[in-house]
Amino acid sequence: MKTIHVSIVTPSGSIFEADADHVNTRTTAGEIGIYPEHIPLIAPLEITMVEVSTASGIERLAVNSGFLEVQPDSVTIISQAAEKAESIDLARAQAAKRRAEERLTQKDVDVERAELALQRALNRIHVYQIQ
Ligand code: ATP
Repeated sequence: MKTIHVSIVTPSGSIFEADADHVNTRTTAGEIGIYPEHIPLIAPLEITMVEVSTASGIERLAVNSGFLEVQPDSVTIISQAAEKAESIDLARAQAAKRRAEERLTQKDVDVERAELALQRALNRIHVYQIQ
């Protein structure tokens, strides 16, 4: 069976490499499922989960937006931050969620920044809990 090589790169370097059967994630244009031989594309990613299906199971990661580049034999994700489900610190994400929710109740707050922090926290909590 053909596979597609997946690389996830952050400022700390490559945090994930695998040969996958398929990859599911969400770009700003919506959900996308990528199989080997996919047509080339580049798309911005949401703050979302990346699900990588390999012969040994499904690996889930939280990604903090970034870009997806697809070639027929490769998927590259470049993101400011990305964590494998098992590397997510749940207590930290819950604290970030509480901080962001608290900020959103205050006046004179940068609403967009607080909403993005909330999305990152909710995404991490979701990926941790679904693993
Ligand atoms: P926090 O307020 O807790 O720092 P954040 O959403 O502002 O959260 P980011 O700027 O997205 O954090 O990430 C900064 C660094 O911390 C990245 O390397 C990211 O992988 C890591 N990180 C953030 N939150 C978590 C978490 N809950 N578990 C594991 N790593 C995390």
